[in-house]
Amino acid sequence: MHHPPVTIHDKQFSIYLPERKILHSVEIVAARLSHDYRGKTPLFLSVLNGSFMFASDLMKEMSIPCEISFVRLSSYTDMHSTGKVKEIIGLKESIKGRHVVVLEDIVDTGHTVAGLLPQLHQQEPASVEVATLLVKPECLQHDLQIKYPAMSIANDFVVGYGLDYNGLGRNLRDIYKVM
Ligand code: 5GP
Ligand code: MG
Ligand code: MG
Repeated sequence: MHHPPVTIHDKQFSIYLPERKILHSVEIVAARLSHDYRGKTPLFLSVLNGSFMFASDLMKEMSIPCEISFVRLSSYTDMHSTGKVKEIIGLKESIKGRHVVVLEDIVDTGHTVAGLLPQLHQQEPASVEVATLLVKPECLQHDLQIKYPAMSIANDFVVGYGLDYNGLGRNLRDIYKVM
């Protein structure tokens, strides 16, 4: 499969992670989750918009009963000790006593996840873990335990497979990095 560079807005991107590699890494995460959560019926919380493709492919590979709900984080920000904390929007069901697995597209500085976890813990879930398609370990600024990363990448700006650059690029099957 040939992957020519793509132009999005003002920037050029080159192929970085082809679809087959992405899907293989998602299968491995799904297998680990299916093993670890046997008998627990996990509740996945997919953080929109970026995680929609990851959530879809991950769910298809789960071999145990599981539920999914979709949330977004407000653009409204409030200063807390962790920095800018975004409120969770659209969480209708109770997570009390549930085994929650947050599905993220990418953990960069970790600010987003670090702000999200205390809000979830307030609702007394049985457990909370994070599964993310991508993590940039060099950029992490929080002491976060990301138990289920599908792939680790260097500090490059990437698009595709759900991730956007100013609204575009989410539809790409493969992940591209800025040139
Ligand atoms: P954090 O709060 O961990 O610094 O960043 C999380 C958010 O930043 C992600 O959900 C995503 O929206 C955005 N982000 C960080 N790095 C990238 C990247 O390389 N590409 C894209 N498209 N978004 C990114
Ligand atoms: Mg995200
Ligand atoms: Mg974005």
